[in-house]
Amino acid sequence: MNGISLLTVDIVTMAFTRGIIQIMLGGLLLYLGTGRLNDRAAIWWALGFLLNGVSLFAFSIEVPQGWELFRNALNHLAIGFGSVFFLMGFWHFGQQSVKPWLLVLLLVFPAISIVAWEILWPNARFRVLTTAGGQVVYLLALQHALSAPLRTELARIYRRLRYVVVIYLIIFVWSYAGLIEILPTTARQSLDYHRSVFTIASLLYMLILAVGCLALKFASLAARNSDLAKRDWLTGLLNRRGFFNAIESGNRTTQDKNQAVLLAIDIDRFKSINDDEGHAAGDQVLKEFADLLKTFDNDKRLIARMGGEEFLITLFDLSEREALALAENIRQQVAQMSVSVAHQKTIQFTISIGVYQMSQKEKIEQGLSHADKALYKAKRQGRNQVVLASNI
Ligand code: GH3
Ligand code: MG
Ligand code: MG
Repeated sequence: MNGISLLTVDIVTMAFTRGIIQIMLGGLLLYLGTGRLNDRAAIWWALGFLLNGVSLFAFSIEVPQGWELFRNALNHLAIGFGSVFFLMGFWHFGQQSVKPWLLVLLLVFPAISIVAWEILWPNARFRVLTTAGGQVVYLLALQHALSAPLRTELARIYRRLRYVVVIYLIIFVWSYAGLIEILPTTARQSLDYHRSVFTIASLLYMLILAVGCLALKFASLAARNSDLAKRDWLTGLLNRRGFFNAIESGNRTTQDKNQAVLLAIDIDRFKSINDDEGHAAGDQVLKEFADLLKTFDNDKRLIARMGGEEFLITLFDLSEREALALAENIRQQVAQMSVSVAHQKTIQFTISIGVYQMSQKEKIEQGLSHADKALYKAKRQGRNQVVLASNI
């Protein structure tokens, strides 16, 4: 074996430094995860970094004789729990199901390390290798958790983190292989060389993982804010911007080749509800009407509050005739509805609907104006009715 060890800093000093860095990263994530954001994933991640830091500290401290068992147990168990917490963080973040058996398995490895190779048949090499085996399982599970991003906005970060985990996994196996000298290259390099490469890789990996966690956190906040900007706060339906955004994005709902049918809906004499019962009662009517509309939602339909008491249902799954029947059904259900407001009063109201079948290649703005024309006709004819644009 040659004597190249790559790093001039000794491994223990590096481990100690890595420990400090990880504890600082853990603190940063803990700060982010607590308080107003109250984010459980960030707290799991923070615990993962903190425990990894603890395991590195335990590795790098000198203890009085007789305390080695305690030090080694802390070192190995902190690694095991650190992996468990990281996985919990990613599962929680991605809303993936928790696999308790995997978490138990990740703790079994360090437990065996300590019980078998520290207490029963002391063997430092087996002890280190057994815990490393657990880390391989953890890294495989982590790259798997990163294969299914919750939202498309996060896919890029997930993909890159996944590459990083896989590359680190390869370096990890290569460097531990130095301990058993099984790979062709491992026999030619000193153990220190392997450990130096591993130390540098671990440091970079941890920093990238921390940056990745922060990036995920901020990307998901940005995605949530953009969702909020597309929703009407009172009813939770799409707002005007959300509607046009969905149409323009050509997403799963709207890309369907079927021509869309538009239902332009307007509450009749809504101003008098406000005037007679107050604005809060008007809001209550809007909310309950929106809740009724939501019962007609599916992934081939868009339901939006286009402004005030004007709503729009865009159907990508029905023919003109079916859409007309649906509109009539909604109109009747509303006519039978009563909304409870303050002072034990109930309000009844009606709606008018204009139905328009878009033709292929027609611009949505044109379609909306046709549907509106039908709606105004329904209003002129006395309200509480459905009018088909093609009958005008
Ligand atoms: P029509 O049958 O012709 O549609 O009569 P209308 O009274 O429903 O129509 P108009 O457009 O004259 O009045 C709509 C009213 O809706 C006026 C506005 O104050 C009220 N409005 C708009 N947005 C809200 C809201 O968020 N909450 C409440 N309570 N009222 C709203
Ligand atoms: Mg109205
Ligand atoms: Mg109106």
